[in-house]
Amino acid sequence: EKIRAAVEGDGRTVFSFEYFPPKTEEGVENLFERMDRMVAHNPAFCDITWGAGGSTADLTLEIANRMQNMICVETMMHLTCTNMPVEKIDHALDTIKTNGIQNVLALRGDPPHGQDKFVQVAGGFACALDLVQHIRSKYGDYFGITVAGYPEAHPDMIQGEGGATLEAYSNDLAYLKRKVDAGADFIITQLFYDTDIFLKFVNDCRQIGITCPIVPGIMPINNYKGFLRMTGFCKTRIPPEITAALEPIKENEEAVKAYGIHLGTEMCKKILAHGIKTLHLYTLNMEKSALAILMNLGLIEESKISRSLPWRRPTNVFRA
Ligand code: FAD
Repeated sequence: EKIRAAVEGDGRTVFSFEYFPPKTEEGVENLFERMDRMVAHNPAFCDITWGAGGSTADLTLEIANRMQNMICVETMMHLTCTNMPVEKIDHALDTIKTNGIQNVLALRGDPPHGQDKFVQVAGGFACALDLVQHIRSKYGDYFGITVAGYPEAHPDMIQGEGGATLEAYSNDLAYLKRKVDAGADFIITQLFYDTDIFLKFVNDCRQIGITCPIVPGIMPINNYKGFLRMTGFCKTRIPPEITAALEPIKENEEAVKAYGIHLGTEMCKKILAHGIKTLHLYTLNMEKSALAILMNLGLIEESKISRSLPWRRPTNVFRA
């Protein structure tokens, strides 16, 4: 089934979980166990990333198949243009079509490792817009298509400190509208930590006539170094109060995780208070923070959280 209807919703708040392909077989099996537990909370859909440069193509296809047909969750597969001539793109799309998967997140992808600039591969596509157009022209309405949106503009549009210029930001938005007009059903945003920037982005999209759902991508802070790496790579603005809260606890992993849950909860509360009904959680293949945030928001029931989760295990009972 296509997930657009679930994302548009019936007035109730819905959420979704993103995963990436683990590096080892054991990691893959662990991921499926985790996914199985998380899917019990009824996400609108789950999605699996396409490894940078197409590095995980076969594994992503296999995981997507198992998600859709064994975990039985509506699945969206990411697909990028990096190193992908059109035959490979079509192979991926034909494979998921055969497996009954109807949802694709159409992306350009980052440049291959070691390159600064994205270069179109021979016989391939230059940008996500090309991919959206291709999917629509070759596969008609079979696929639901999602595209990426950047509340702070895509990092390619940002030079130096201080974020994108107004002109770069406007160009990025105009291009996003072209992706939607070419046939995308909805937008998932890049991670952000300044909720006001996201809310302004939604407003700005509406101003230029983007009417589809815009789903905020929420990445709970799990680990201080990982947070710095991701926000550095994505050129994400970090509000000073977050830096101030993290600075004294940055060596204490548990305290950072707890703060990440608190911050994620507050960000989501503010977003929901503005009438947005969909939350997308970048789980980084971990369950604790995503589930804790949803529990704090009253979107999942505590009693349904598996007792087998390490953080739920009543250690004193086991010791007795
Ligand atoms: P595009 O939409 O093509 O845009 C890229 C940049 O080029 C933008 O600045 C845009 O304004 C500009 N641009 C492109 N074409 C034009 C044009 N014709 N005119 C004007 N401007 C243009 N990466 C992975 O490798 N695997 C994943 O699974 C993955 N999942 C992601 C999921 C989400 C929700 C997000 C937000 C990102 C994800 N990424 C993933 C990262 C993504 O591949 C990179 O951010 C990549 O650099 C851009 O992809 P895009 O689809 O946004 O590109």
